[in-house]
Amino acid sequence: MKNIHDFLKRFAIAAFLILFSLTMVIPSVHPATVAAATANYGTKDLTSGSQGSAVTQLQKDLAGLGFYLYSIDGWFGPKTHDAVVKFQKSAGLKADGLVGSITKSSLNKILTQDLTLGSQGSAVTKLQKDLAGLGYYSYSIDGSFGPKTHDAVVKFQKSQGLKTDGLVGPITKSALEKASTAPSKASRKTVTIAAGTTYATPMYIIDSGVSGPVVMIVGGVHGNEPAGYTAAGKVKDWKIKKGKLIVLPQANKKAVQNKTRTYNGDLNRAFPQSSSGTGNNTLAKSIYSAVKKYDVDWLMDMHEGYNYTKISDSVGQSLIYYPTTTTKTMANAIVSKLNSGISTSYKKFTLYRYPVKGSLARACGQYLGVKAFIFETASKPSLSVRVNYQMKAADTLLSRLGMI
Ligand SMILES: [Zn+2]
Repeated sequence: MKNIHDFLKRFAIAAFLILFSLTMVIPSVHPATVAAATANYGTKDLTSGSQGSAVTQLQKDLAGLGFYLYSIDGWFGPKTHDAVVKFQKSAGLKADGLVGSITKSSLNKILTQDLTLGSQGSAVTKLQKDLAGLGYYSYSIDGSFGPKTHDAVVKFQKSQGLKTDGLVGPITKSALEKASTAPSKASRKTVTIAAGTTYATPMYIIDSGVSGPVVMIVGGVHGNEPAGYTAAGKVKDWKIKKGKLIVLPQANKKAVQNKTRTYNGDLNRAFPQSSSGTGNNTLAKSIYSAVKKYDVDWLMDMHEGYNYTKISDSVGQSLIYYPTTTTKTMANAIVSKLNSGISTSYKKFTLYRYPVKGSLARACGQYLGVKAFIFETASKPSLSVRVNYQMKAADTLLSRLGMI
């Protein structure tokens, strides 16, 4: 019995293989009645060896549904074939790797169907992946539209100002498509402040590609305050998930190079002291106009004082803000966060209002409506401790704005 059983099994496999290879070489004939739904992939059948824009679209859609993980090259090779077969199996179609009208129609149907509670399959998988990528869904990608997927859809709809019905129809799909492709618009670029002058210094523009606050972090206004420019030099490598982060690590590069507080006058007194002012020198003018150009919402200028507490001409460990309600709330949050890690009371950070006249933070706060701070660490502890304070302050600001 066993031998006969084996024989039958082998026979069945062989027969299957023969039939399978026949289906590979004999073109299948499909009904032409579904042509209207096949517009996306052209009118011709697509199969191994096909090339062009219809194949590109096919690869994109198969990739979107999670069946194809390779490059979108418009060439129907073995990988595209495999992806088509996988898709056909999942859709209960003949798994022949031939994209004729039935497979085209099935793909179009899945791509265009409305999804809601109870929906299943690859389109739900794609939806869950998109929602996860946007931070709305953090559960398993199981292709099953349950209450968690529903909640995530509602949250997404709310964020987009759409009807919060949990139904993924054309409008929600199009919004998802837009939002999901936004991160690819993320960019980092370097521009030069005071370009072409002896003060030329790089400024880094980190654009998340997603709308949100514009935050500017400045270091090196004073060249002998290394914690500020060291921290800013690290912040420029941070990744953000929304808004724009603009970092000018060495505002007065010449002073930083010389390790002197000032170079060609004190940059911390060179910014406008009237609403019509532009700045006292090339460097101040260039920085001030960049704040306007990039429409900065929040600005933190990183400095260092001498002592922990206020003495004659040093403010001590402090955060000095240009007073508005929003700025005060944020300043409180930053100082509380820092002080929660400091047990010695005289070392704790103090809040002050009104950055000094002529400083970047003062000019931006008073004349441009920027929510602006000067952050000061004492130069007493080691550089790494001071740099950490600076970074923690920047981190708290960005975290509370939802940017990191
Ligand atoms: Zn300073």
